[in-house]
Amino acid sequence: MAGFDVDLFVIGGGSGGVRAARIAAGHGAKVVIAEEYRMGGTCVIRGCVPKKLFVIGSHVHDEIEDAGGFGWTIGQVAFDWRKLVANKDKEIARLEAAYTSNVEKSGARVIKARAVLEDAHALRLSNGETITAKHVLIATGGAPNHGPVIPGIEHVISSNEAFHLPELPRRIVIQGGGYIALEFAGIFAGYGSDVTVVYRGDNILRGFDEDVRTHVRAEMEKRGITILTGCTITSVDKHGEGFTSHLSSGSSIASDKVMFAIGRHPNVANLGLEKTGVAISPTNNGVAVDAWSKTSVPHIYAIGDVTHRINLTPVAIREGHAFADTVFGNRPVQVDHATIPTAVFSQPEVGTVGLTEAEARAQFSHVDIYKTTFRPIKATMSGRDTRILMKLVVDGVSDRVLGCHIVGEAAAETIQAVAIAVKMKATKADFDATVALHPTAAEELVTMRTPTARHVRQAAE
Ligand code: FAD
Ligand code: NDP
Repeated sequence: MAGFDVDLFVIGGGSGGVRAARIAAGHGAKVVIAEEYRMGGTCVIRGCVPKKLFVIGSHVHDEIEDAGGFGWTIGQVAFDWRKLVANKDKEIARLEAAYTSNVEKSGARVIKARAVLEDAHALRLSNGETITAKHVLIATGGAPNHGPVIPGIEHVISSNEAFHLPELPRRIVIQGGGYIALEFAGIFAGYGSDVTVVYRGDNILRGFDEDVRTHVRAEMEKRGITILTGCTITSVDKHGEGFTSHLSSGSSIASDKVMFAIGRHPNVANLGLEKTGVAISPTNNGVAVDAWSKTSVPHIYAIGDVTHRINLTPVAIREGHAFADTVFGNRPVQVDHATIPTAVFSQPEVGTVGLTEAEARAQFSHVDIYKTTFRPIKATMSGRDTRILMKLVVDGVSDRVLGCHIVGEAAAETIQAVAIAVKMKATKADFDATVALHPTAAEELVTMRTPTARHVRQAAE
């Protein structure tokens, strides 16, 4: 380390940075990690964790409604948004403290300050310190996009503010058709808001399997969420405490809040990258990295959302861990970005792993589809009008299961386990050889015997 203050300087105390700092310190490196906002980063402070807590609470309304069919009479119920937010904040503060102390226990030093690169080895901190480092890890994450500047954009909130609203909006308009828009649509609707989703394309969840997209939309609409497609919000007017969103279709919607969830961008601005020679990817505007998460400057690495590869917490954590093992643990590891399971915690929720039907048909000559929709057992007594979708995409030649897509209760939990089989390249015969667990919804995955569709690509003439 001759000549440097530390072996590793990590910029950003989020999912990836924290893991990298802890593992590198465990390998004996002298590590500093700087966080400008709150330790834990997006996932812990204003992402996965508070979102999941909100989702869990918003399911209670369904439980109460469904209880009648099972003989329950539930008296007057009331919901207190402020209490929900306060209890969530308490849990997030506990997690933030745990993240800080776990990093410190590993031997790394935590500095609560913004860090920017002065040159390729020197970091200037907002507390006035300058620290030189042999290696630098950029783990600065991402932030919500505001989209094109439209009149009234200053009235629009993002997911950041949605976690701290002083009261539950009676009516909310959410622009976007991806993860965050649909998750918050379900959250607000569950607590009783009147929700309208405005999406620019022809159907929500672009990139997901077509059956998933159709099924989720229909189920959300059954729950009373209005989904307007093929239009955007072109301006937002404020009237007293309320807003009017004007749409490209010519119509307008009145609401108490307007939220945009239209993607996120990597935090690369004002970091001093131009002083170091670290290149930005021309394709995704994130920090450009190779398979080792190494940037164009050999001793500077970048991981997680700032690289804009796959923006999920477990991916950032793996990339951070692999970096630390590779550079400080004498154990070179590359992260395998293939076949990563993902869930959208919409209502109903989506769990998916591997190829969509369209992707499989583009890559494989014979594709078999096994698909079922069915009424969950609970709905038979509760009377709820809902159906689960399960779909397997199979290579008709090798019999390998290429993808699995589930929409419905516990889809995320189920897909995490199915992902092991898909990652292990299990065949449809392996699924069939597994005895069903009854009565579950997931047993359908091992009992579908006859393809619902068989696609054979004709050889080119
Ligand atoms: P982050 O966690 O964003 O951490 C970066 C940190 O760097 C931040 O704390 C930031 O303050 C800090 N920072 C930035 N610049 C500087 C600087 N110059 N100096 C010091 N500190 C700096 N993923 C899932 O897998 N599952 C989910 O259910 C899920 N839900 C989500 C819900 C929402 C609403 C959002 C917004 C995201 C969600 N994600 C989810 C995505 C997940 O949060 C991110 O993929 C993950 O947090 C990325 O980790 P990271 O370490 O790359 O960055
Ligand atoms: P997504 O990429 O999931 O969705 C963005 C949505 O906004 C898309 O429907 C997109 O449309 C639309 N959009 C983009 N630009 C515009 C625009 N200018 N005007 C109108 N609509 C626009 O991003 P999110 O913001 O929902 O989430 C960001 C990322 O965070 C996710 O991609 C995911 O990686 C991560 N995340 C993960 C979660 C999880 O694991 N459960 C939960 C939340 C976030 P189009 O499809 O046409 O491009």
